[in-house]
Amino acid sequence: SFEGQAPKKWPKANLTPNARVVLAKRYLKQENGQVVETAEDMIFRVASVVARIEEEMYGKGKEEVQSLAKEFYTMMANLEFMPNSPTLMNAGRDLGQLSACFVLPVEDSMEEIFDAIKNAAIIHKSGGGTGFSFSRLRPKNSMVRSTGGVASGPISFMKVFNSATEAVKQGGTRRGANMGILRVDHPDIVDFIQCKEDNKEITNFNISVGVTEEFMSAVREGRPYDLIDPHTGSTAGQLSAPEIFNKIVEHAWKNGEPGVVFLDRLNQGNPTPLLGKIEATNPCGEQPLLPNEACNLGSINLKLMVTEKEGKMVINWERLSQVTRLSVRFLDNVIDANQYPLEIIDQVVKGNRKIGLGVMGFADMLILLQTSYATEEAVEYAEKVMNFIQTEARIESQRLAEERGTFPNYEGSIYDGFMKLRNATLTTIAPTGTISMICAASSGVEPLFAVAYTKTVMDGTALVEVNPLFEGFAKEYGFYSEELMRKIADRGTVLGLPEVPNWVQEVFTTAQEIAPEWHIRIQAAFQKYTDNAVSKTINFANSATQEEIAEAYRLADELNCKGLTVYRDGSREEQVLSTGTGA
Ligand code: ADP
Repeated sequence: SFEGQAPKKWPKANLTPNARVVLAKRYLKQENGQVVETAEDMIFRVASVVARIEEEMYGKGKEEVQSLAKEFYTMMANLEFMPNSPTLMNAGRDLGQLSACFVLPVEDSMEEIFDAIKNAAIIHKSGGGTGFSFSRLRPKNSMVRSTGGVASGPISFMKVFNSATEAVKQGGTRRGANMGILRVDHPDIVDFIQCKEDNKEITNFNISVGVTEEFMSAVREGRPYDLIDPHTGSTAGQLSAPEIFNKIVEHAWKNGEPGVVFLDRLNQGNPTPLLGKIEATNPCGEQPLLPNEACNLGSINLKLMVTEKEGKMVINWERLSQVTRLSVRFLDNVIDANQYPLEIIDQVVKGNRKIGLGVMGFADMLILLQTSYATEEAVEYAEKVMNFIQTEARIESQRLAEERGTFPNYEGSIYDGFMKLRNATLTTIAPTGTISMICAASSGVEPLFAVAYTKTVMDGTALVEVNPLFEGFAKEYGFYSEELMRKIADRGTVLGLPEVPNWVQEVFTTAQEIAPEWHIRIQAAFQKYTDNAVSKTINFANSATQEEIAEAYRLADELNCKGLTVYRDGSREEQVLSTGTGA
């Protein structure tokens, strides 16, 4: 059994009090409503389960496995690396489901549609998120031969998926999340683009339009494009590409949805084209997968990969290399330590052995390097860091391939003949919504959301939370005062404050102050060295026009992004984070 306390002599986890609260609420083992493990015990549980696989599968000795467990433990306790939430929650426990990302097939029959709903419910219960392509469903009002009735179409079925997710929420480890994708050439595309307009029936979905290269060139050339009925395979009319493009833009401008994914580009990056096409991604868009495929993610904390050398802050390449290699080994082990919710998923996952190693704390790293996010220099850092991680990850995956064999579907993959790899994909940039809180790092590759904010605690008093790096700078450079911190919390930003030196204002630039173009260029810089995709929100000011959003889509396409999510400040009723009023 993997129960037990972390060895007393091992280092304590470097967690903030806030992070310990987050863990106690959801992640630590409970019995009768009482938390019965510490954060250190949790990390020990995860490290042991993931290391012990090497004893079971590769015949490693007990001592070697122990020392590996200690290495895994140490990099998590240091907060240098964190696996995705389901691994933290479920490793060594009954559920044993360790992946965050799944894609399930939705085929065009009643049986298969409801199989997908059932399977999604099983996955949600275990803390995983599911993505679906609804593109294979026949359009609404088509004939149903067996009954003589008419089909209700993809959007009406999405509502059923949504209700099932809503119901499962109650019992699961976290509220379920879905991604729904429809190809732009599906006859119901207009309904799909509008389907979240009232935002009441499809609340548990992110939606994205699957855009093709043919569609994008029709937009550029201002011409119509063909709609295709997936049931018959034949042309089912035409629409004006610029009109549909503008409709997507208009809705994204209104409330951030739909996003777009560039389908042809996802398939150019598909490592195993012989196994079929990629039609969908996981809920936050960073993980394109084949039907019935799952992926486990993990992220390196870049905030901790900066060190002082000869009086200057520089990137700690040596430690970044060590942590990258150890993380790849960790994530490859997770594939075998995982208990998959369905037999078919077990088979597909073990054929490709995809993992998704990414980063968090990129904005923090830039701050420590005293570099503004909205600069050429930041784009260069993004490319350099991700190129390094991808290269080091491949070196480790090659080493694992020598020891353990290549992934079973290696033959005929895009790596066949030039690079023997253990894993069909290695890198993914996840949002790191919770694990970045656990690590007290900025999330994923996003800029800071606010420099300070006011948080209302339970008894109603208002606490000012200041970004610790900012507080450090303010004290070091002599402009700290409590009054200033309160002022910043009210505004969220330091831009234009005479008390704050100009260069500090630039280094602490926040998401809404950064021009969308820089957001996209940073996304593209990470994408360039990421096997899978990048989770990123492109922030716009409330005053942004639809044309500016359209321009963002065009730029993302031009810079080879795999998808795009935009958000205009204040455009959704419930905003998860908002400056001034707390996060
Ligand atoms: P975390 O920080 O908790 O590890 P992320 O914010 O990085 O997770 O999200 C990674 C992926 O995990 C998402 O793209 C999605 O597939 C899945 N996920 C996140 N939140 C949920 C949720 N509430 N329910 C189901 N899946 C989720």
